[in-house]
Amino acid sequence: IVNGSNDSDKPRDKLLEGLLTADFDEDSCLSRYQSSLYRKPSPYKPSQYLVSKLRSYEKLHQRCGPDTEAYKQATKNLGHDDENYANKSVGECKYIVWVAVYGLGNRILTLASVFLYALLTERVVLVDQSKDISDLFCEPFPGTSWLLPNEFPLMNQIDGYDKGYSRCYGTMLKNQTINSTSIPPHLQDVLLPKDQTMMNKVPWLIVKANVYFVPSLWFNPTFQTELMKLFPQKETVFYHLARYLFTRRIKADETLGIQVRVFSRRAGYLQHVMNQIVACTQREKLLPGLATHESQVTNTSRSKKLKAVLVTSLYPEYSNNLKNMYWERPTSTGDIIEVYQPSGERFQQTDKKLHDQKVLAEMYLLSLTDNTVISARSTFGYVAHSLGGLKPWLLYQPTRGKTPDPPCVRAVSMEPCFLTPPTHGCGAKKRTNSAKVVPFVRHCEDLWHDGLKLF
Ligand code: GDP
Repeated sequence: IVNGSNDSDKPRDKLLEGLLTADFDEDSCLSRYQSSLYRKPSPYKPSQYLVSKLRSYEKLHQRCGPDTEAYKQATKNLGHDDENYANKSVGECKYIVWVAVYGLGNRILTLASVFLYALLTERVVLVDQSKDISDLFCEPFPGTSWLLPNEFPLMNQIDGYDKGYSRCYGTMLKNQTINSTSIPPHLQDVLLPKDQTMMNKVPWLIVKANVYFVPSLWFNPTFQTELMKLFPQKETVFYHLARYLFTRRIKADETLGIQVRVFSRRAGYLQHVMNQIVACTQREKLLPGLATHESQVTNTSRSKKLKAVLVTSLYPEYSNNLKNMYWERPTSTGDIIEVYQPSGERFQQTDKKLHDQKVLAEMYLLSLTDNTVISARSTFGYVAHSLGGLKPWLLYQPTRGKTPDPPCVRAVSMEPCFLTPPTHGCGAKKRTNSAKVVPFVRHCEDLWHDGLKLF
């Protein structure tokens, strides 16, 4: 990617003008500190006040988050519907629990809104992790977690909360069951009343919202002055909060690249090639087998891995089949397998720009994987694994429409193969075995007794 701007001399601003904390280990979430590489420098700067507010919020979250004494204290009596709750100590921390509802757009907007409300009211945000949030986003606050622990006392009730629920703020107002002397331990649905005094006394708020309620916070005189200081440029509220909160988790414990090249008159999807891919990856323990009906998933003590598989091929059927295979049945190890294929061009279209751009991108992507399986004799595959410094597993070329046995072999070195060396050494009078001339050149693994490669 060629960057047309001449900003390359400037040091890149990893922390986005102080919006992000420097307290994270960079490896914990690569996209957090790399986002500045992919975006143009921003014309919108966060205010110093917002930056300092975020730093003090992070400290608050560390003090009150899961696994702290304060959290234990705050949850101790929660769930027992005790009339005298107000007299019980709940500790120094107050919380707001965000519950995931509706689609991802709604979720992101409501979570940003809830976070801003938490900043304004000195509450700690905890997110309902029963949904996919933890798979999508990195933890935003250092040294702690924003995920609501699964043992949260009201966990089983959260999904059932709706407007009619007795602890719904609106319902309580209507029934006059809430007043300054009767403060409930938790409340669902914060209607953002102008007078926040009573809200401030409720230790737990549970929000199930599906709208971006930030604009209405500005109507509230309690918040307005603070908001002006936080966001002197009004239109930047979501922009800054989103860049702070939502860094994409690119999460795979292991990656495997599989390059499928079919050199056969009958090119396309061939069942024996599919079988070969499955046989090789399972035999070499690159991918787990499937759990059978009788056998339970074994090795339950080992933590489950997420393995991402990148398939490149002219034909989309190979990855579709692999995907379906792991979709339909659990694996014997309990690991989760995700399969991706960026393109399925069907025909070689060399010299067509868009086509060649995809080829290069795929070679490059394959080179980034932890392990690779490539097809015999394919220079496409050689470039990919060599570029990545990977010793690949080579799928033997099938003959007579049969899956080879063994299906593949591990390469001894990462060098590409010289596919068609002369059978006679240069200038040699009699036939010599060119694989014996020097100790570091041998025949290629995928060509049986032919080809030459350095090792
Ligand atoms: P080889 O024929 O396998 O030695 O590799 P080459 O790269 O020289 O030629 C094969 C060409 O076919 C590629 O350059 C692509 O144009 C196309 N091709 C083959 N496999 C793939 C694939 O997995 N992905 C994409 N995008 N194109 C492929």
